[in-house]
Amino acid sequence: MIGVPLERVSGERRVAATPESVKRLGALGYTVQVERGAGDAAGFDDASYEAAGATLTDDAFAGATVVLKVRSPLPEEIAKLGDGTALVCVLQPERSTGLLEAIAARGSTALALERIPRVTRAQNMDVLSSMANLAGYRAVIEAAEQFQGFFGAQITAAGSQRPARVLVIGAGVAGLAAIGTARSLGAEVRAFDARSATREQVESLGAKFLEVTITEEGEGGGGYAKEMSPAFIEAEMALFRVQAAEVDVIVTTALVPGRKAPLLVPEDVVDALRPGSVVVDMAAEQGGNCALTKAGEVVVHKGVRILGYTDLTSRMAHTASLFFANNLVNLLELMRGPDGFRVDLADDVIRAAVLVHRGEVLPPAPKPAPPATPARKAVAPTKTAPKAAPTHDDPTAPPRRAWGSTVAGLAAILGLFALGRFAPSEFLQHFTVFILACFVGWQVIWSVSPSLHTPLMSVTNAISGIIVVGGVLQVHHTSDLASVLGAVAVLVATINITGGFLVTQRMLGMFRRDGRS
Ligand code: NAD
Repeated sequence: MIGVPLERVSGERRVAATPESVKRLGALGYTVQVERGAGDAAGFDDASYEAAGATLTDDAFAGATVVLKVRSPLPEEIAKLGDGTALVCVLQPERSTGLLEAIAARGSTALALERIPRVTRAQNMDVLSSMANLAGYRAVIEAAEQFQGFFGAQITAAGSQRPARVLVIGAGVAGLAAIGTARSLGAEVRAFDARSATREQVESLGAKFLEVTITEEGEGGGGYAKEMSPAFIEAEMALFRVQAAEVDVIVTTALVPGRKAPLLVPEDVVDALRPGSVVVDMAAEQGGNCALTKAGEVVVHKGVRILGYTDLTSRMAHTASLFFANNLVNLLELMRGPDGFRVDLADDVIRAAVLVHRGEVLPPAPKPAPPATPARKAVAPTKTAPKAAPTHDDPTAPPRRAWGSTVAGLAAILGLFALGRFAPSEFLQHFTVFILACFVGWQVIWSVSPSLHTPLMSVTNAISGIIVVGGVLQVHHTSDLASVLGAVAVLVATINITGGFLVTQRMLGMFRRDGRS
């Protein structure tokens, strides 16, 4: 039984399950009980939960084996956790001392959604990304509401206006969403991030990527930033001081995991903004990127409004709940064992999120091994550097794979020699083309980087087209070997072409704004 309580943290309007997610959970074999009124603030009434198959209750914790929540539990909620119950929510134990121990004392299990690794396999469970995307959008909408002008350029009989200039600091998930929204409203956008990898993403959204004079890479692993040096932060502030004289809106999103948000917009940068300008500090909850931010409040400083909202996602509670609940369903689908809900600690996605297991606080999950460096990127050993030890048993012998390739190569040469002596010349010609085709096909599949797979698909489709024509020419009325092989070639190439079109269609669908595929 899954329990979904009402969120009791002040200002939280989201809910961890929606009528749609209740239906999906039901289809996975779970039963769901929802606390009366749990979805009211997000626009989901009790009747819609009931219609979706949930039972309504006054205490969602009672009898639940799994409790789904948005926010970390309050002490009175921890007291209701049953022995063996699994709590799934954005736990953030670093914000409340003794939280994990209190949950462990109940004999319960706790999964922290924010700890789910941001790997491709777990993308559909990534609440950090789904919520940051919403928050980035909403930050710009809130800025537009406070800003006393248009975002897009205006040329009217009553006067004209240049587009608003928006500076986005931090181009992670939230920052990119903010850039996209501000651009779609017609603003001129510039952005900065400590990670140089974001440049391409910023520019692809039509914004200008700003640079500082100092060279320091901000990539700290896993797509996150590391804490930057004081010299770099100084250089950033100098950049923002100059920018402040030009821009109308600043959206700050800069965060470093596990640290207080870096201070990037000191008072003198705010002073450099024109009265009427707006600063949205999305890092307000983590201490703020702006020195004047007050979490949860709007501060007016010399005519500049500084928004420290910490409830940006709750300001879109309906959609935020839909996305959040979908992330949870995807997680529960992964956690469905043969006998229902199962905590599989051997799964690295689950292990990373489980902080307490059946009354025991677990040590931090082991960090995933870094991907092996591709051979072509390896630095050639210098004269003084020791050679890397071969991985096979005898360190002096050449690698076994090399022996294998040598033997295979010799066999192929001997085979070709024999063919050249005895086979008809026409066969030899076809056979050479066949071998070359196998080699090119193998290179095409193994040696092309995934980013080039889309253009590659067009090329392979074209080749398949040629194969279809060739195959058709080989098919005769008789059922000789050439006809059969020709027919097989036509069939396989047709499957390749159709598959190529289908995959392309699906990929294009992913980029369509209305979500149609
Ligand atoms: P975040 O919220 O921790 O940080 C926001 C941004 O602030 C980051 O881009 C960071 O580089 C930037 N920042 C930190 N210090 C800064 C400074 N001093 N000056 C300027 N900018 C600074 O990060 P996030 O948005 O949650 O995620 C960051 C990245 O993680 C993404 O852009 C992406 O590359 C990666 N990610 C990967 C997946 C996946 O499934 N593979 C999913 C989500 C995110």
